[in-house]
Amino acid sequence: MFGKVLIANRGEIALRVHRACQEMGIRTVAVHSTADATAMHVRLADESVCIGPPAARDSYLNIPALLSAATITGADAIHPGYGFLSENARFAEMVEAHGMTFIGPTADHIRIMGDKIAAKTAMKSLGVPLVPGSDGALNSLEEAEAVANIIKYPVLIKAAAGGGGRGMKVARGPEELEEAWRVARAEAKAAFGDDAVYMEKYLDRPRHIEMQVMADTHGNVVHFGERDCSLQRRHQKLVEEAGSPVLTAAERDALGATVTAGLAKLGYRGAGTLEFLWQDGQFAFIEMNTRLQVEHPVTEMVCGVDLVKEQIRVAAGQKLGYEQKDIQFSGHAIECRITAEDPETFAPNPGKVSTYHAPGGLGVRVDSALYSGYSVPPHYDSLVAKLIVHAPTRSEAIARMRRSLDEMVVAGIKTTLPLHMRIMDDPEFQAGDYTIHWLERFVAKQ
Ligand code: ADP
Repeated sequence: MFGKVLIANRGEIALRVHRACQEMGIRTVAVHSTADATAMHVRLADESVCIGPPAARDSYLNIPALLSAATITGADAIHPGYGFLSENARFAEMVEAHGMTFIGPTADHIRIMGDKIAAKTAMKSLGVPLVPGSDGALNSLEEAEAVANIIKYPVLIKAAAGGGGRGMKVARGPEELEEAWRVARAEAKAAFGDDAVYMEKYLDRPRHIEMQVMADTHGNVVHFGERDCSLQRRHQKLVEEAGSPVLTAAERDALGATVTAGLAKLGYRGAGTLEFLWQDGQFAFIEMNTRLQVEHPVTEMVCGVDLVKEQIRVAAGQKLGYEQKDIQFSGHAIECRITAEDPETFAPNPGKVSTYHAPGGLGVRVDSALYSGYSVPPHYDSLVAKLIVHAPTRSEAIARMRRSLDEMVVAGIKTTLPLHMRIMDDPEFQAGDYTIHWLERFVAKQ
């Protein structure tokens, strides 16, 4: 097992990884920008190293600075968290080239899944169902027209290098195709430096359902069930649940079996999430994330597993030590992502938190790096806390979430706490009756 892990991240996820390491008897190294010198992840880690100025490209994305920090502190491994360099194949390679372990999949697998076209090709060959669409990249507008005529409108043009919902444009009919083609490519070029795009059938009322998997280096792959992440704004998730209100145990088992068999064939290692759209009882793969996800805690609550410890164990070469049949699902979990944003306009609202009070009680978990007097810096993602609840049934989980939201205090800055309360109060949400378009309409109605 590793003696010391460098955590190449900040905020709640840096704390999350630190906590797992501490319980495993592993020392931790925090890295931070000058804007984060007083951050909680720096305070709690065993050691810390300043890796640069506030801008992420000069600090949290600065590979030479991170590798130097790991070398001078004698770290054996690097955990990338999510975001930043977590899906950067080059970083994974360089960590290994410096004699340290990258806590994640191989660089090759990160590379394949980072290119959505390559990922779809790989999944197709493994028998995983896909959204109907182009066979690979589209080389011209004429080709796009031809594919759209086969799969029928509405269609979606998507960036091969996409992420965060960027480089994605819908064409509802032939008259919208040229514009969608042009805008998606321009956005993809600007955001990712790569204008390769592909086409998918635009599903009009799907749910976003994803599967959590874990694989060791001895050929064992298991899944920890699904998460329903359909509550999204601008393709960004706001509320997640485990399990999905619509999936049966048999459907979960069937999809899980296909996915784990596929990944075993691929020789995948570490944690991963396969994202699907689900409509009319059919699953269609859209992408795979080769890292820990923001919403991983809901899975941990229903499975009673620590996914970060599992990541560390398999990265150290240990066997999973259990089989699929040993993984049991108990109760229901919900996560609300609380961001430092205006709950109506979603304008970012960083600044000083005058008072912070976290809710508690049975089945309540708060993953946050906030404290009273902390200043939320303007340079990074606006996520300030994840409030997670677990209860025997979905309706009890909703009641527990309402109670916890009511107890939680984040004063001094605007947060999305009131929006989450309104979502929990909504009869359609309570009935589990929503698609990926539900939240945008809900927000527009407010
Ligand atoms: P990104 O990597 O940019 O997040 P994804 O491929 O994961 O892109 O898609 C993000 C979200 O966009 C999905 O969760 C879903 O809400 C929507 N989406 C993606 N593909 C489709 C599709 N074919 N039809 C309808 N909605 C889609």
